[in-house]
Amino acid sequence: MGLSISKVTIVGAGNVGAACAQKIAEKNIADVVLLDRVANTAQGKALDLSEASPIELHNKKITGTSSYDTTKDSDIVVITAGVPRKPGMSREDLLKVNGGIVSDVTTEAIKHSPGCMIIVVSNPLDVMTHLAWLKSKLPDNKVMGMAGVLDSARMKYFIATALNISVEDIQAMVLGGHGDQMVPLPRYSTVAGIPVLELLPPKTIIEINERTKNGGAEIVNLLNTSSYYAAGSSVASMVEAIVQDKKKIIPVAAHLNGQYGLKDVFIGVPVKLGKNGIEEIIELKLAPEELDALKKSAELVKQNVDKLTELALV
Ligand code: NAD
Repeated sequence: MGLSISKVTIVGAGNVGAACAQKIAEKNIADVVLLDRVANTAQGKALDLSEASPIELHNKKITGTSSYDTTKDSDIVVITAGVPRKPGMSREDLLKVNGGIVSDVTTEAIKHSPGCMIIVVSNPLDVMTHLAWLKSKLPDNKVMGMAGVLDSARMKYFIATALNISVEDIQAMVLGGHGDQMVPLPRYSTVAGIPVLELLPPKTIIEINERTKNGGAEIVNLLNTSSYYAAGSSVASMVEAIVQDKKKIIPVAAHLNGQYGLKDVFIGVPVKLGKNGIEEIIELKLAPEELDALKKSAELVKQNVDKLTELALV
């Protein structure tokens, strides 16, 4: 079922923001407003992307701006504004600088689009999503973070590579915070319905889990900055699920209120994503060690959320 949702604002027209805009427009999902605080960046990238539309054959409008007035009445606001990692940095190292940016951006964005949903991309992801939720005062179903789609896509790709097969029929699930403590779940990963545990030796599975956990750092070490193509595709798939009311089950950073025994924390879990945003949080039956890993990951997120108060950001 298609919806009338059609205006997506992307704040931050850097690598990730531009990749999101490209995917969302070229897959004909929604009109895009690209906003950056640096004059002309968003305008230039929007014009460049628009000039590709006769070749890509889409009719979506891509507008570049530095003014929140242009974002008025957006249905979805994607926050990519912030500083990316450099080699050797953890996502948590970005907390202070990106906290200030995400706080300001959310306050401005919500003023102009009080009915919007927010998808946060800026790192440290789970903490920044919590911050956007607090600042926007939106209900739980309307604020989420993008990480699990990307982490699971990486895991799927590594499984496909290990088996030398198509990526098409692979399902993989990564839970937890978007950091070194994320929790890949091979037990919930399959190829054409066949459990991955039956197809690959334990050693390879351990290697895939580790490479998935370090997937972001692997790219940062190669590029000297964060991933953006796969991040853009991941955001576009979330926007598509909402705009087209797909009711797709995908992992996103969601606000937990007792699920998995966790309270008041944003962490990656599978959800049903549709026109109302997070329509349901799916509780998987986790093995004790998987649940332990999820709880450890959530603990780290909570410690960093506490730092937001110390930094007077909330
Ligand atoms: P980038 O430096 O290429 O782009 C960031 C843009 O944000 C810049 O153009 C900058 O001018 C803009 N910006 C900064 N402050 C702003 C403000 N207050 N208002 C509007 N615009 C502002 O960085 P990038 O590679 O696009 O990464 C963006 C963020 O996304 C980083 O924090 C990075 O760590 C994160 N990231 C997250 C994931 C994920 O899976 N969640 C994946 C990749 C990158």
